[in-house]
Amino acid sequence: MIQGKVYFVGAGPGDLDLITVKGLRLLQKADVVIFDRLVNPFLLMETSPEAKLVYCGKQPCKHTLRQEDIQKELLIHAKKGLTVVRLKGGDPSVFGRVGEEAELCAQHLIKYEIIPGITSGSAASMYAGVPVTHRKLSGSFATVTGHTCTKDGKPAVNWSSLAKAVDTIVFYMGMKHLPTISNELIHHGRSKDTPILLVQWGTYSKQRTVEGTLATIVAKAELAQIQNPAIILVGEVVKLRAKLNWFDQRPLSGRGMLIPTATDFCEEVSQLKEQGADVYAYPFLSQAIQMNHRDQLVLTRLFEDEHINTICLLTYQDYLEFFEYIDLSGINMDSLQTCTFICCDHTTRVHLSEAGFNTYQVSAMNVERITEALLPAQIQIAEPLRGSL
Ligand code: SAH
Repeated sequence: MIQGKVYFVGAGPGDLDLITVKGLRLLQKADVVIFDRLVNPFLLMETSPEAKLVYCGKQPCKHTLRQEDIQKELLIHAKKGLTVVRLKGGDPSVFGRVGEEAELCAQHLIKYEIIPGITSGSAASMYAGVPVTHRKLSGSFATVTGHTCTKDGKPAVNWSSLAKAVDTIVFYMGMKHLPTISNELIHHGRSKDTPILLVQWGTYSKQRTVEGTLATIVAKAELAQIQNPAIILVGEVVKLRAKLNWFDQRPLSGRGMLIPTATDFCEEVSQLKEQGADVYAYPFLSQAIQMNHRDQLVLTRLFEDEHINTICLLTYQDYLEFFEYIDLSGINMDSLQTCTFICCDHTTRVHLSEAGFNTYQVSAMNVERITEALLPAQIQIAEPLRGSL
């Protein structure tokens, strides 16, 4: 019997380029990809159009595929002799249940490999300007889940040891329990002035941060409405953000740009990224307008998780094809209402404005002009999107 193989691959925290070279190569050759919600959906554009894609994303309180079903799915395909990539957000070994899934493969004598990824705890921290260790400020760090709870519904953590034993603490999945986390740390000996930083959607252009102290953070988080996915970073290292905040100060920070076009704009795309935007260049072709499952899935996921807030329609043809595509895909038009449109021709602009969309016109696909055009709007999105309170 032909044996398949399962590869557990860390997709990294969000920024598309933070997947490993090995992980990317495996993704490109996979027959089946089973992926989680916190994987950047656009990574799936790297898969073969023939690959079977299975979404098992869990949104808080909404389980799409249960753990047992995910495990069944892995086994079924591997036993058919297929190459399966189990794509997990961040690093599969950090709160990623890779242990259980790999154990199951071992039990069923299915070959597997585990490819580590960059975990959000250190990556989101660093994109927010905070290294988790520092020669003068922190000689140790701990990663802790805020999710596993005791009977009284509070995180199952040995607070007195944790508060005293390490310098920097990174909590994953902890937003719901932020009040407990800050109270317990104060109660067990951390100063109430200890700096704390929340980083939501870290390493995406739409990354948001809120900085405070153990005493003030709960009120600030509520005001900014920070929710998961976010990490909670506690320790003196947070002070370094004032000097090392390199990521969310760029001209297009906060922009998730969809460029649906058949034209290859490789150079411009990398320039837009350099300016701070996340760019999803989507190869729409008029002859391929009938739905390709992969492209549709990716686009739907991008809109559902609000990764897109700007859409560049460079020609009238792109405009027509884009709306036809949206229509066919069943994506809710409401998700477009909050988007800003960039267009290069007058007719497109008129149509979009008449339909009530927020539009900017530039004379060509020129990164400088797009950045300039978006500048006034950047000031408005700066607070809600980048907002460091
Ligand atoms: N294996 C993942 C963690 C999975 S647990 C990793 O190594 O990163 C899910 C939790 O990870 C989220 O609730 C959040 O706390 C954190 N997380 C994942 N991606 C994140 C991101 N881009 N920004 C901030 N936190 C993130």
